[in-house]
Amino acid sequence: MTRCLDCGSERASDQCAFCGLTSVAAELVLRRRLVRRTAVFLVGIIVFVAAGQVFPALELDSILIFAGLVFFISLALGYWIDFRARKHGEVEAVKRIYFGMIPVPWIFAGLVFLNGKLDTSRPIRVPATVVSKFATGGLPRSRRLVVTSWRYGRRIERIAVDQNDYDRFHQGDDIIVQAQKGALGVPWVYGVFRE
Ligand SMILES: [Zn+2]
Repeated sequence: MTRCLDCGSERASDQCAFCGLTSVAAELVLRRRLVRRTAVFLVGIIVFVAAGQVFPALELDSILIFAGLVFFISLALGYWIDFRARKHGEVEAVKRIYFGMIPVPWIFAGLVFLNGKLDTSRPIRVPATVVSKFATGGLPRSRRLVVTSWRYGRRIERIAVDQNDYDRFHQGDDIIVQAQKGALGVPWVYGVFRE
C-alpha cells in the first residue's frame, strides 16, 4: 500500500481515488509545491535576519546559530522528500513536518520585530569597554564589538553594530551601550555611544 504524494491518502491503484491524480501527476504537483514553499521559507529567513539587524538582540549570535540549525535541518528534510518522491517512497510524515516548518522563520521574524517595535521599557545605559571587534562577510554580514559585560556572571558581550560604529570604535575605547528589555522579554541593543 502506498500513499498519494499529493494528498497523502492511501491508494490501491495508480490513480488516487481521493484527488484523482495519477502517481506521475502527484509527483509533479508535490515537486511544484516543494519549490514554492521552500521559496517562502527562504524569504522568511531573509526577513528574519533583516529584523535581527533592525532590533539586534543581545544574544543575537546564539539566536542566529539556532536559526542556522533550523535552516539546514529544514532544507535537508525538503531535499529528502524530493529524493524519496523520486523513488516513489513514503513521504507523508516528513512532508507534514517540513510544511509545518515553512512559517517558522516568519513567526520568529515577527517576534523579533515586535519585541523591538512595541518596546516601551526605559532604556538602560551601561558603560563598557571595547575588548576587540570582528566582522564576518557572507550572509548574514555581521559587525561585532566585543565589550566588557555588565551582566552578572558574564565576561563579555558581543554587540551587533553597523559599519559606521564598527569603524569609529577601537579596542580600549570606553563606550556607553544603550539596551532595552524588549516587549517580549528579549533584551536588544538600541545603540552604542561615546562616553
Ligand atoms: Zn491523492
